Amino acid sequence: MKKFLVITLFPEMFTGVLNASMMWKAQKDGVVDFQLLNLRDFGLGPRRQVDDKPFGGGAGMLLMIEPLTMAIERAKQILPGAKVLLMSPSETIWNQSMATEFANSQDNYIIVCGRYEGFDARVEALVDQKISIGRYVLTGGELPAMSIIDSVVRLLPGVLGGGEEATEIESYSDGDDIEYPQYTRPEVFRGQRVPEVLLSGNHALIAKWRQEHKTK
Ligand code: SAH
Repeated sequence: MKKFLVITLFPEMFTGVLNASMMWKAQKDGVVDFQLLNLRDFGLGPRRQVDDKPFGGGAGMLLMIEPLTMAIERAKQILPGAKVLLMSPSETIWNQSMATEFANSQDNYIIVCGRYEGFDARVEALVDQKISIGRYVLTGGELPAMSIIDSVVRLLPGVLGGGEEATEIESYSDGDDIEYPQYTRPEVFRGQRVPEVLLSGNHALIAKWRQEHKTK
């Protein structure tokens, strides 16, 4: 079973996404397990402070190193040997081949979500990999964490219907190719017809058409 543990200030953001559709089914089938640690529980003092102003000045607040360290240490006790991933707008950009690699590996993952202006850079000493989901800035690491989790979990054996084929011939599974267009009933909708060849039952011709209609 693949296990994910997410460290976040907003655990409630995950409940909808991780408990719907395929993510819900994957948990129910025992393919994956999700846990959430609230960074607030590791905050300092009576106000459970987790952020502070950056040394040297500048706008915004940074997640402090102490709560982050305590949360990551706790996560490592729960999931010994798990890889620690830090959501970060810079660095390696997530892609389909990384999702495949993560799905195929035996590793479990601890995902650390930043907030505000980010985190005290010393957290990097506790991290195996910094991952970005694209060259744009979000308000927190929660959406990146959910994107990574979703793209990995759907590749785990048994999660999608249709066997392995569903993930073998889709977009990005072969370099940058994008899946061919697909159609379902009705055959004609407001004058738009489904390509005749797809209704022909001729598998060789269908395969040829699909090959020709992939986007490179
Ligand atoms: N001040 C930072 C941005 C912080 S955004 C900067 O200029 O680089 C707050 C947090 O959101 C980050 O610490 C990170 O955890 C997350 N985040 C924002 N955009 C992201 C992206 N594209 N990929 C992954 N994580 C992202």
